[in-house]
Amino acid sequence: MLILDTFNHISTNLAALLMINQLQPPLPNTCKSPQYWGDSFKFVSKMINSSFLGKTGKVELDKFGRRSNFDLEVIQYKLGVRVLEGLWTHDEGLFQARQLHVKDNVLKEVSHDTEKDNLIVATILSAPYAMKSQTSSNQNGTRYEGYAMDLIAEVAKLVGFKYSLLIVDEYGAKDANGNWSGIIGEVVSGGADLAIADLTINSEREKVVDFSMPFLDLGISILFTSDTSKSINLFSFMTPLSPMVWGMMLVSGLAVSLVLFLIAKISPFETAELDTEEGESPFMSLRHCLWFSVASWVQQGCDFLPRAFSTRIIASFWWFFTLIMISSYTANLAAFLTIERMESPISSVQDLARSDIKYGSIQSGSTLGFFRDSSDPFYKKMFNKMTQCDDCLTESNGKGIDKVMQESGQYAFFMESVTIEYHIERNCKLSKIGENLDSKSYGIAMKKGSVLRQYITSAIIKLRQEGVLDRLKKKWWKEERGGGSCEEEEQSSDGVSTLSLKNLGGIFLVLLLGLIMGLVVVGLEILWVNCKKKNFLI
Ligand code: ASP
Repeated sequence: MLILDTFNHISTNLAALLMINQLQPPLPNTCKSPQYWGDSFKFVSKMINSSFLGKTGKVELDKFGRRSNFDLEVIQYKLGVRVLEGLWTHDEGLFQARQLHVKDNVLKEVSHDTEKDNLIVATILSAPYAMKSQTSSNQNGTRYEGYAMDLIAEVAKLVGFKYSLLIVDEYGAKDANGNWSGIIGEVVSGGADLAIADLTINSEREKVVDFSMPFLDLGISILFTSDTSKSINLFSFMTPLSPMVWGMMLVSGLAVSLVLFLIAKISPFETAELDTEEGESPFMSLRHCLWFSVASWVQQGCDFLPRAFSTRIIASFWWFFTLIMISSYTANLAAFLTIERMESPISSVQDLARSDIKYGSIQSGSTLGFFRDSSDPFYKKMFNKMTQCDDCLTESNGKGIDKVMQESGQYAFFMESVTIEYHIERNCKLSKIGENLDSKSYGIAMKKGSVLRQYITSAIIKLRQEGVLDRLKKKWWKEERGGGSCEEEEQSSDGVSTLSLKNLGGIFLVLLLGLIMGLVVVGLEILWVNCKKKNFLI
């Protein structure tokens, strides 16, 4: 264009001078005898003193014959889209483009009503994409904030359009007549020019609307809560062994004491007569036999030991038994105490399908569509179960989360992974179960064939490249509205969680019980001796 305007300027001025016969043609020139063109100054001064409106703006030259009043656009093609990367001006040099130049008629083309000077952007109130502002609401109505709200503001700034919001209740599903509901329906019917939300790109929707380049990647996952209060209890230290094993250990202790007592009675090597120096063997008393097995069981040893070969065999086997039991208990105890807060009855979608736990999703969204349109009979079966259940499908993500919390451990909600991440960051009782079922993305929807698509896509590429999308994700997921509140409760980096009184309180109770029992028994002992003395005195 610059060259075209240059030739136009030359030819117009040449023609003008020739028309009034003010120009003598230059003499034939050779390299050996160069000749100056006598009228060249006349021609140059005519060019300097004239101007015209060319393709690249007003064409005019300074006193040295140079042109400076033009701008150069630096264009790059990315993924087939023309992206304005920068602008060069004579005065300021090259600077990075911040504003994508959208010609005025683009906005007119996109809106149905040519009078309209701002676009209607439909959205859904869903955290953290669009939420009512907590801080301010002005006289013109409620203000909205969130990831999608910040994103559309950035895109509008880059593309150069103004917009107003339209709040819609549903994401959008196709009914039996092929009509679309919700946010997709608004775009299809022209009620909205753009739709921005946690709006999933799928092939069914792609047939009726155009999507921009994706701005977030995700997959369907399971939101669930298991009643951890049930699994964390004061007597957690008992959990490594089953009640049956605890019972068997008690019976074994008693049996060993009894057998020791009996064998000691009949064994000639345990009797006092054979070893008069040491006196009577303590194993001749059942009380001492019980004391021996308890002391061995808790690995404390005892101040008396069996003497006979027979009683020593029994003691050795009992020690071996307690060694194995205590080692198994210790190993299992650590594992039990650390994993109990993560304990969940399900760990995958297969577990969920097999269990009695009810499950559902949003009733008019792409998540339910995934199960409906899946070619996998397993997911189809899950779809039938969800739709046959009276109250498994919800109107919104918020209602699904409330249901998961209310029916703690009895209801699981299929939701999109990024949104789950947001909620588990704030509600520590919630958790994400298993791997994602699929992988897809969110995009901005607009009318089929909209001229805005390439500009919005360019803007999203630019925002991605400049790290704005990452910054917004961090802001709305980790920082705003209580982000990071579950981090303290999370396990520390070495994978070990602190044990609290909630886990180990029971062992303190056992100690207290021992002290009380000791006090009661000492009372009984005093009573016993006193009674005996009285009897003796009487
Ligand atoms: N983001 C989804 C949609 O666009 C909502 C869902 O079904 O989870 O429909």
